[in-house]
Amino acid sequence: TYQYPEINIIAETTTEMSKNVKEYLNQIELEKQIRQEFFSNASHELKTPITSVQGYAELLESGIIQDEEQKMDFIRRIKKEAVNMNHLINDILMISRLEAKEAEVLKNDVRLSILLDDIVESLKPLAASHEVMIHVDCKPLCIYANGQQMKELFGNLISNAIKYNKPGGQVWVTVTEENRNVIIRVKDNGMGIPKESLGRIFERFYRVDKGRSKKQGGTGLGLSIVKHIVNFYHGTITVRSELDVGTEFVVKIPIQEKIC
Ligand code: ADP
Repeated sequence: TYQYPEINIIAETTTEMSKNVKEYLNQIELEKQIRQEFFSNASHELKTPITSVQGYAELLESGIIQDEEQKMDFIRRIKKEAVNMNHLINDILMISRLEAKEAEVLKNDVRLSILLDDIVESLKPLAASHEVMIHVDCKPLCIYANGQQMKELFGNLISNAIKYNKPGGQVWVTVTEENRNVIIRVKDNGMGIPKESLGRIFERFYRVDKGRSKKQGGTGLGLSIVKHIVNFYHGTITVRSELDVGTEFVVKIPIQEKIC
């Protein structure tokens, strides 16, 4: 300590300031690290399909493949990889827009029952191919939000409940209102999520079973996008799951003033 109290105050303030600066720099370093990791993951995810497209195209070009059916099979694989890459790039763009918060988000009164009907209709082929039934119970509610973002939110949760289900499985979607919150529940009786993975499923590119996710056309970004959207509306998301029994996601979004 110094002889003069003013100097003590200055010394304490300076120490406090340097602590804050250190914390700030650590935060910047952490963000930099996360960003680098994201780019390296994204490049890796894109490299795999690009390499296989290149391989198939070279084989077709070489003339080695004579069998017409095999040629068609290679073309179908190239197309499938292109669809997956497109999906991945769209998801990456969506995340970067949500993170930059640049989203000039256009909001409207979105009638949830109409939105859900659209989504379920578009997911019917996926549900049919997995032999999964979808049940919807949606109260006549509106939310003041961006329609595209709401589509992403519901679409990702419901398509996961279908993809990670078993043949003959079920998906229940309910939308209710509780204490000025819209509560969205997406429940399935599918394969469930192992306990040790539950805390990580919202991380970017995290998949419980990479092979299975990729086979389903998954990017590992779906739940991360869902979480970003939920945060954007100051909501919460929770998950409960039991292996081989099923999974339930519950999203809670506060209802804003403007309502239809
Ligand atoms: P993906 O593109 O792999 O589906 P997501 O971010 O949407 O990526 O989900 C992350 C992982 O969480 C998935 O790979 C899957 O293993 C697991 N998961 C998500 N939803 C469910 C569910 N309803 N049932 C079982 N596992 C799920």
